[in-house]
Amino acid sequence: MPEGDTVYRAAGRLRNALVGQVFTRTDFRVPALATVDLSGRSVSGVRSRGKHLLIDVDGEHGIVSIHSHLGMDGAWDVYGVGARWRRPGFKARIVLDTNVSQCVGFELPVLELLTDADTALSYLGPDLLGPDWDAAQAVTLIAARPDALIGSALLDQRLMAGVGNVYRSEICFLRGVLPTRPVSEVEISPLVDLSRKLLYANRNRVERVTTGNTRRGQQLWVYGRRAQPCRRCGTPITRDTLGENGMERVVYFCPRCQT
Ligand SMILES: [Zn+2]
Repeated sequence: MPEGDTVYRAAGRLRNALVGQVFTRTDFRVPALATVDLSGRSVSGVRSRGKHLLIDVDGEHGIVSIHSHLGMDGAWDVYGVGARWRRPGFKARIVLDTNVSQCVGFELPVLELLTDADTALSYLGPDLLGPDWDAAQAVTLIAARPDALIGSALLDQRLMAGVGNVYRSEICFLRGVLPTRPVSEVEISPLVDLSRKLLYANRNRVERVTTGNTRRGQQLWVYGRRAQPCRRCGTPITRDTLGENGMERVVYFCPRCQT
């Protein structure tokens, strides 16, 4: 599942492929952008902001940014010119060609053009993998929601940007707190520091690891491990859901190690 680390890595790949290059063809396969043509324009930068990805394109009237969000299943692939895609073509939402590569975004629930991306994304909290990461600000923003459940606060991108569903379960386990505890009962600063540490450690890894053990099946403490024994105490891991903005999202925890 794409989280801040996934998007950071995708931005790196796209940056290597696109910055300084000129689009020879662009194909937006979403109705709202079907007539957009950015061919002949050059890419000045690629950035990630939490779980959002921005491709900045130069133009006559300033920079326009291709904004995408990977959602649950989205991905950006970089291919050599003429190479066969690794995913089905009908899932492609955008195809960007240059003389040296082809970048394809698949299953992107958000794809739009922004003329002022910084303002449009200013609602996001400090970016865990951003050059301007500000731990103190994240702590302040989270602490200002004392009644929120900590599991929900960790996913709230307005408070801190980058944590997704996998990390929030892992972070709560590692701090020994139940995701349903209110923010007011949790030490926020170590939780924020741990979030940064985990995402930073995984920023260049293809497979996410929170246990320190890179062997397949050993990489996570609790996420996806329903009814399997806790790696610390042997108690079966519990799977439950927490409501976020009217949407139920799954959460995993050890009912013994976490209180
Ligand atoms: Zn346990």
